[in-house]
Amino acid sequence: MQVRGLPHTHIIYKTTDEYAPVVAAIIDAHVQAIMPDPDRTPLLYDIVNNLHLHKGCNEKTPPMACARGPGRRCAKYFPKPESLATTFDERGMPVYKRGPNDVHVVAYCIYLLYYFHAHINVEVT
Ligand SMILES: [Zn+2]
Repeated sequence: MQVRGLPHTHIIYKTTDEYAPVVAAIIDAHVQAIMPDPDRTPLLYDIVNNLHLHKGCNEKTPPMACARGPGRRCAKYFPKPESLATTFDERGMPVYKRGPNDVHVVAYCIYLLYYFHAHINVEVT
């Protein structure tokens, strides 16, 4: 969950086509969208569980009042679709590997979360 008003950042990282992460294996090495195993990586699990879940879209008041429109759909398109592996949609955008328990996980980079202990959404476009 992103709490409005707390320090956070939005970073756009651009690269050349030569190094563009178009291969799913390369994306998987940098971006995750799954709940970490609490037994194997308890600190990472705590960070994701406390800072990287997007839930409560239909709450009437901030911080999670992100649902909009007649159907009150999430403006950030959560819950995300499940996928057995990282694939690409018809526009070439990545669909990250997610299981049924991961559909509310905001995509992240493991190294950044370990370093900053903060909400840092990382996406490949
Ligand atoms: Zn939402």
